[in-house]
Amino acid sequence: MLAGPHPRSGLDARERTAVVVEDDPDVRDLLEAVLSQAGFATRTAASGREGVELVRTFDPLVTTLDVGLPDIDGFEVCRRIRTVSDTYVVMLTARTDEIDALMGLDAGADDYQTKPFRPRELRARIEAMLRRPRHGVLPAGGGAAGAAAADGLVVNVAARTVAVDGTEVHLTRSEFDLLGALVDAPGRAIPKDALVRVLWGDEYDTGTLVTDQDRRSVEVHLTNLRRKLGDDAASPRWIRTVRGVGYRFDQPS
Ligand code: CA
Repeated sequence: MLAGPHPRSGLDARERTAVVVEDDPDVRDLLEAVLSQAGFATRTAASGREGVELVRTFDPLVTTLDVGLPDIDGFEVCRRIRTVSDTYVVMLTARTDEIDALMGLDAGADDYQTKPFRPRELRARIEAMLRRPRHGVLPAGGGAAGAAAADGLVVNVAARTVAVDGTEVHLTRSEFDLLGALVDAPGRAIPKDALVRVLWGDEYDTGTLVTDQDRRSVEVHLTNLRRKLGDDAASPRWIRTVRGVGYRFDQPS
């Protein structure tokens, strides 16, 4: 069951609603079954436009979104969904190449799942996603106002906003959570596996196995994060890759 507290309480109807956007009827039925068993009232759409309308109407807690749809592709559907809802979005793709992942995450998806998948695997992924804190995750190492600043970068924890050289930068939840974890420990290398757990909202559980796909998801989020911040992996202003370990937020000098 997707039971237990999560930060989006107070919206009971929403907590139990999911939207499935999938044109393959077999996969659609499977997704509906998995989500229904997890306690969701599930609505399904066979096209992207229909999916956007369902999300607009029902404002679901979770949306699964196929990349290959007959009318508009899943990335564009995700962008449109993001203009009307902050639903958790899992993108499903039959292709595993990095471009898919990059585009999927950049479009505002929270996670992605490759096909074929086992029902249990998808359910675990959704459960992990729902455990992620959505608001004010980080006690940023900064001041009492909940803001941290370093060399032109200002992270406001309470408002979940980020500005670079005075210009606001829009980050996805995952990007913000990762940035927050790094900013919170300046000068310290954070292992990739620990960042996976940040995404899971599960930093103290070391019992769950971290897979290569999870690590790659962190890499993809970091790539997007750097691009949005205008940071450069080769000559970093803030986020440095620590080879064989993970990433480090450089101490402001
Ligand atoms: Ca499809």
